[in-house]
Amino acid sequence: MPRTHNGQVDWAAVRADFPLLLREVHGKPLVYFDNANTGQKPVSVIEAIDGFYRRQNANVSRAVHQLGTEATDAYEGTRRRLAAFVNVRPDELVLCSGTTFAINLVAYSWALPRLGPGDTILVSRMEHHANIVPWQLVAERSGAKIRVAEITPEGTLDLDALTRAMTPDVKLLALTHVSNVLGTVNPVRAVCREARRRGIVTVIDGSQALPHRKVDIAAIGCDFYAFTGHKMCGPTGTGALWARREHLQAMPPFLGGGEMIKEVSFDGTVFNDPPHRFEAGTPNIAGFVGLGAAVDYLDRLGMDHIEAREAELLAHLTEALTRIDGLRIFGTAPEKAAVVSFLVEGAHAHDLATLLDLEGVAIRSGQHCAHPLLQFYGVAATCRASPAFYNTHEEIDAFVAALRKVRKLLG
Ligand code: PLP
Repeated sequence: MPRTHNGQVDWAAVRADFPLLLREVHGKPLVYFDNANTGQKPVSVIEAIDGFYRRQNANVSRAVHQLGTEATDAYEGTRRRLAAFVNVRPDELVLCSGTTFAINLVAYSWALPRLGPGDTILVSRMEHHANIVPWQLVAERSGAKIRVAEITPEGTLDLDALTRAMTPDVKLLALTHVSNVLGTVNPVRAVCREARRRGIVTVIDGSQALPHRKVDIAAIGCDFYAFTGHKMCGPTGTGALWARREHLQAMPPFLGGGEMIKEVSFDGTVFNDPPHRFEAGTPNIAGFVGLGAAVDYLDRLGMDHIEAREAELLAHLTEALTRIDGLRIFGTAPEKAAVVSFLVEGAHAHDLATLLDLEGVAIRSGQHCAHPLLQFYGVAATCRASPAFYNTHEEIDAFVAALRKVRKLLG
């Protein structure tokens, strides 16, 4: 089902690929603007999962029978497609449940055995808790310290401060590629270059980058890159960690069990080679089959088209919100993904989101798993509207009209 013709995308046809978007909520057409939280799934992903369970379901890497071979091929096929999608080698890609698992794997398997008192972990102010709390746990157990790389009021990284903070005691830098609250796209390539010159290992959280733009992990030059499948049209419980080969080879396993071994006896166990060494137990096979279909879908549509479409939607949304009196936007970086956090004077974020839900509009309100960032802005919560390429300009108008209406109700 080609959706592009002569370089033009038929966005109405693209939208029709996402059946959930047709439903109503509280008797109103759904406007789903919570894509930074999780994305919707195209029919091809839903059918891939359904087809796997109907025709191929078996465990991977264990059985020699036909179904086992097909299931293993499907699972490993996703690893290869995903690797090509982000320009890395398949054997450097650990498949896992998502970013949270991926970062914890780095924390426990790479950082904990290496860091100690006198070492510092540098973490940016705009991180999701998934890229803060694992480092706090490592710091607590190893004696290492956490240092915060601050941001500017516009929501960009303070690059001078960041470079100054890269002192010889810093062993690891944890940084998000795109902020889930501010939409800021960080200059990860330049930052990783600076870090590498100083021998600092970099962990990039790509959760909010892959859904929005073409990501070339090899070109970024980081040491670890973590991402999640459910924000990029794939199923929940899927994701991956890319790591430089030398790290994967030096890292002890994180979880022990089946699949991650070559040989087990009570005298000792020989572990499997990476990436299988880090994939103990039965994985979310059907989920990864779905993720493979998601990668194909995004590839066919073209990440450049997605980026351009979302830039248009973001410009429209930002312009419309700016015209609302008393509305404050958090995050005005020159390079932004389609994520807009805001507050309206005199209205609590949760009240706004609850009333908007009654109008059929789904946005997120709260702290977005980024307490330290909200502390920086001195606010307890924000609203966050995050459209995706399958949303429409009409939905932005409907959302803004609903926002004006519910704001009046709140006085
Ligand atoms: N990092 C960022 C920037 C996110 O937006 C999210 C999800 O909201 C995560 C990490 C955690 O991802 P997951 O819950 O899929 O592990």
